[in-house]
Formats: sequence, C-alpha cells, structure tokens
Amino acid sequence: MGEIANCPKCDALFIQNQFRTVCEKCYKEEETAYEAVYKFLRKRENRKAQLDEVVEATNVPKELILKFIRLGRIQLINFPNLGYPCEKCGKIIREKRLCADCKDNIHKQIHQMEQEKIISERNKQTTKTTTFYSQGPKK
Ligand SMILES: [Zn+2]
Ligand SMILES: [Zn+2]
Repeated sequence: MGEIANCPKCDALFIQNQFRTVCEKCYKEEETAYEAVYKFLRKRENRKAQLDEVVEATNVPKELILKFIRLGRIQLINFPNLGYPCEKCGKIIREKRLCADCKDNIHKQIHQMEQEKIISERNKQTTKTTTFYSQGPKK
C-alpha cells in the first residue's frame, strides 16, 4: 500500500510507503551510502569514530548518516561516540529526542505555565468577587 508523492530529494514522482520515503533512484543512492557507512563502522578500529570522522571517511552527508541513526539502521549501542543532535539545542545525544538540559527546561516551562494559569484563575475569581460586591443589589 502506498500513495504517489514527490521525492523529497529530486522531486521525481514515486510510490511512497512506510519503508520508502524517497524515489527508486535516490533510494539506491542511499543504500550505496549506507553500505559505505556500514563498511566503515564495521571495522573494529572505527567503532569509536565520531560523526564528523564518518562523514570524512565515507563522503556520506551528515544528514543522511543521522537519518540512518534515527531509523535505527545504525545502532548507537555499538558506537560510543556517535549520536544525533538534540532537537532544540543541537547538542549530540544518544537517546530520546531532547538532551537532558532541554528536557529539564521544558519541564520548568510547563511548571511555570501551570503556575501562571493558577494565578490568573485566582485573579479572575478575585475580580468576579469584587465585581459582585461592587454591583451588589441596591435598594
Ligand atoms: Zn529521488
Ligand atoms: Zn538540548
């Protein structure tokens, strides 16, 4: 099952599905790139390579290597120095989508927003009460 879409890389029409997100030609290019990365990383002495070193050694664009990592085709567990950027600050991380700092910040922001909501709710109620009293029934 799939639907016709434009290849995000070369704009050619192709049938898109869960496993195929680029056209046949680009897919083959990606496979070749993956082979190169895989071959490089398979060597014991390259296990500790960093992303930039892999890019340099294989000529595969960083973005594509990151895609392989995100897709789980490159298992980070085997490569202690590889990672992908945090979605917020770009720091290299190895799990989840955000680094610990950004996750912390988001928690703080959510907490602050909740506090502000509580305070503004309280203010609203105070205003209502005030209004009630000031417009109380007159004789
Ligand atoms: Zn394409
Ligand atoms: Zn971050």
